[in-house]
Amino acid sequence: MIENQKCGALPDHINSERNWGYGYNDLISDLSEWSQSPYVVIDSIGASVQGRGIWELIISDQHSSLTYKRVYIHARTHPGEEESFWVADEIINFLIADTPEAALIRANTIFHIVPMHNPDGVELGYSRENANGLDIESGWDDDELQPEVSALQNRFIELSFAIPNPIQVALNMHSAYACKRYFVYHHENGTSRYFADSEKDFISGIQLYYPGGFENWNYYVSWSSSTPDQYPESWWWFNYAENVMALTYEDMNCSDAGNYNLTASAIINGICDFIGVNIAGVKKSSEIPEDFVLKQNYPNPFNPITNINIELEKMSFLKISIIDIEGKEIKVIGNQNYSAGSITLQWDGSNADGHQMPSGIYYCRLKSDVSVISKKMILIK
Ligand SMILES: [Zn+2]
Repeated sequence: MIENQKCGALPDHINSERNWGYGYNDLISDLSEWSQSPYVVIDSIGASVQGRGIWELIISDQHSSLTYKRVYIHARTHPGEEESFWVADEIINFLIADTPEAALIRANTIFHIVPMHNPDGVELGYSRENANGLDIESGWDDDELQPEVSALQNRFIELSFAIPNPIQVALNMHSAYACKRYFVYHHENGTSRYFADSEKDFISGIQLYYPGGFENWNYYVSWSSSTPDQYPESWWWFNYAENVMALTYEDMNCSDAGNYNLTASAIINGICDFIGVNIAGVKKSSEIPEDFVLKQNYPNPFNPITNINIELEKMSFLKISIIDIEGKEIKVIGNQNYSAGSITLQWDGSNADGHQMPSGIYYCRLKSDVSVISKKMILIK
């Protein structure tokens, strides 16, 4: 068991100020690419000391759902830990991909991802600090919070108190000079026996998806020394106790780093098991022929009525809805058991709940017990 193994000390041969590679402009250019995805909404949660945006991606097929499970991931609080960004980047790629697994995740969850929590530190070439020279991994209990800390803390508050689907998993992405992949759990001395055990279970669950990739759950903090509530995870513990699976993840901060896609996939699979989203089921269903086919709507483009045709192999419960470009469900056109055969449904874009819908791109989404399919439709006036 190793206490306080977070990130580790900067080795002597590395300068404390340097060019850390992937910078703020790279992020801005990636943000504009990610924003092309219909499943991504991007907004800033605040600004850094020097006024750079702290950007958050929200990934889901219904960004404002009050029932979907919510997950929050933030990366690169420590600028010198660029690998934490690359893992977050692969998590984003996984979640926006055109795969049955990703579609099922997007149809049940809302992922919030901050790829660069400390943009000033990245641009200034600091290893850990923000522009005020402070390590913003701590200071979560200061009387006056650093702007980067306050932006994230306010967002956590907004997404955890007074909404029916609060954050259930909060991952804080770092990378360690120990050159290993591991999670830092929170010892029962600072939390509870139940919580420490469930953190170990969560870590073991992720390990299963990348055998040999991660260390066992041997790394922990107990918060038994110094001010315990100064860190993000202890902030979670003091405010939300056993209700939030809040952990620090450490990727490898060394030349052996890599396999970010395997790491990301294992983390997502482990999270899905933990929150009860069954991607294993959808994988199985994609190996056998689909039970249904969602055909392209016709006419397309259309004004104002279009037909949606589904071929069904056997009786199934289906939900068919119309989604706007922001990912908001604007109309449910079918939600029942359907018999096998051909089904045709209509959507009238001039009369969605009494509103005339604007021209633009919409999606028809078909959701069954095990999978989700969407087709793009264009309404033109
Ligand atoms: Zn770190």
